Amino acid sequence: MKWWRLGSLFLFLLVAFFLFKFVNQPGSKPAEKFAYTQKSYSSKRFPVLEYHLISRPEGRWTRTPENFRADLEWLYQNNYYPMNLKDILTGFQGLSAGKTPVVMTFDDSSSSQFRYLADGRVDPDCAVGVIKAFHDKHPFDWPMRATFFIVIGTNNPDRNIFGQKELAEKKLKQLTAWGMEVASHTYWHDRLSKVSPEFARYSLAKSVKVLSDLSGQKIVSLATPMGLYPSDESVFKGEYQKISYDLKLVCEVAGGLQVAPNSPKFNPYHINRIQTISSEWRKFFGRD
Ligand SMILES: [Zn+2]
Repeated sequence: MKWWRLGSLFLFLLVAFFLFKFVNQPGSKPAEKFAYTQKSYSSKRFPVLEYHLISRPEGRWTRTPENFRADLEWLYQNNYYPMNLKDILTGFQGLSAGKTPVVMTFDDSSSSQFRYLADGRVDPDCAVGVIKAFHDKHPFDWPMRATFFIVIGTNNPDRNIFGQKELAEKKLKQLTAWGMEVASHTYWHDRLSKVSPEFARYSLAKSVKVLSDLSGQKIVSLATPMGLYPSDESVFKGEYQKISYDLKLVCEVAGGLQVAPNSPKFNPYHINRIQTISSEWRKFFGRD
């Protein structure tokens, strides 16, 4: 065969290959559990941060208001964008282009997370006060988004719906108005590995009913107290005494970065979190 014949055969095969590859594109993939709106993001992991007390001094379960402000600043500077946990269900709709979602979660609903002062202002040093001030500073690229895992009937009054009993409804309605997520942490901070499936359903249904009545939100997220899981995970959805509920997203107490919702490894009942202590910031973000 002459060299030019070989050359044109090669060229023909090359053209045929590219035609096959690019013109004959397969149709869109089968429906994924929770597709991202931003396809470029689909394979990345994202952080779900876990806070408890916002107070002084810094400790194992306490982040100071100063350090919490620094956390927000660091996230902002590093191209993160705040979202609620339930935004997973819409594929993080509204995520700004080129940004990585970050979900800030708060457990145990102490007054350090949301406190009104005697003059009616939100305490600027409580979590909500810090979030509001940061949003006011960056109104266009830092919306008020965070997920609060709330307990209702514990024996510590400061932790039942952010303390300040008479202001409970006002606070939950205000969180809704600001676009933040009200979520369940069971009714009594129950160890779901210890209680019966029936009691777990009772606690979850009662919690969802109170929180949705007060906040006006549909309650879809849960953090298991102390990360303890029931042996029967069907309790996350169901009905108890005619109250039906469906907790679609359930958080662990640890685990590291969370896989993207469209990953085959994604399990909506086991969302990983990162505790916001210095050692974890160093380990997962290389931040001092
Ligand atoms: Zn807790």
